[in-house]
Amino acid sequence: MKITMVKKRLADGEPCEKCQQAEHLLRERGLWDTIDYVVWAEEGDPESPGMLLAAEHKVKIAPFFLIHIKKGETLLFRSALRFAKEVEKLKANQPNKELLDTAIDVDALSTEFAEASPQQVVKWILGRFGETCAIAFSGAEDVVLIDMAARFGLDFSVFCLDTGRLHPETYQFIDKVRKHYDIEIRLMSPDAQALEAFVLEKGLFSFYEDGHKECCGIRKVAPLRRALSSYRAWITGQRRDQSPTRAEVEKLQWDPAFEGVDGPLLKCNPLAQWTSAQVWQYIQQYEVPYNPLHEKGFISIGCEPCTRTVRPNEHERAGRWWWEESTKRECGLHVAEDE
Ligand code: SF4
Repeated sequence: MKITMVKKRLADGEPCEKCQQAEHLLRERGLWDTIDYVVWAEEGDPESPGMLLAAEHKVKIAPFFLIHIKKGETLLFRSALRFAKEVEKLKANQPNKELLDTAIDVDALSTEFAEASPQQVVKWILGRFGETCAIAFSGAEDVVLIDMAARFGLDFSVFCLDTGRLHPETYQFIDKVRKHYDIEIRLMSPDAQALEAFVLEKGLFSFYEDGHKECCGIRKVAPLRRALSSYRAWITGQRRDQSPTRAEVEKLQWDPAFEGVDGPLLKCNPLAQWTSAQVWQYIQQYEVPYNPLHEKGFISIGCEPCTRTVRPNEHERAGRWWWEESTKRECGLHVAEDE
């Protein structure tokens, strides 16, 4: 989220009085630091940046304010007071720093969240952890979660595991999401030395012969461990109906396999109760970007050599590591090491 204030500068070089009053009001309410950019509309200069913004948004008065939520979604305020109230509302959603260090009773929260909507769960965890909570992004579910987070105007982080074996469409999709929501996506690459040694010894397609665990371990699990070590909580798009290995997924749990920056890492699965149909209904309703491979018969999309299209009546994860038993089709991202 970025905030722009457009101020008017008069021909004599002085700011207009109304703009000064607006700035004074924001300073008094402790909101001046929330302005990311001040853009000047120069009197008599229609090409000045502020004048161009005024023309773009069909505004004839200054000051005015723009809250850029994501690409194509900008809120416009002509009144400084209304803008201040909106920012105060958004600020109320930001993480409460004092809460960060208080104990979390996961069992009690799981009971509380039993029937909660994904939005309620997302709002809670981001309200509590802000950018120390990361959304793990790869598929359609994850963009739904990013969309929910962006709509709350809350701080959050996003990372993505770049295995080096993704489809070209997936790389384009990642960049589309980055631009659409105007967010940073931290791309996690495998350790170069470990990968070189592995490929030298086993080649590029050993997973078809001896299973995907070793390759996923280097290309996914190790980079995930490295990513998660920077956060206190993470959000995944896991759903209970995705596979037999996910049937018991909780909305909130201490991660059994990975550690965060302070040790215990909270894992949050807001979509646990949702079906694929609910995910796609959300995508359509809010025009959420999705991977174009879904239109070519792919449902669950991972690395290119380990993903195939799904036939009618096949389960959605039947196209992942299809040469292995369905109970072994996890990449290690959501499975405790000793399982
Ligand atoms: S999904 Fe396939 S290519 Fe990707 S990391 Fe796992 S085994 Fe390797």
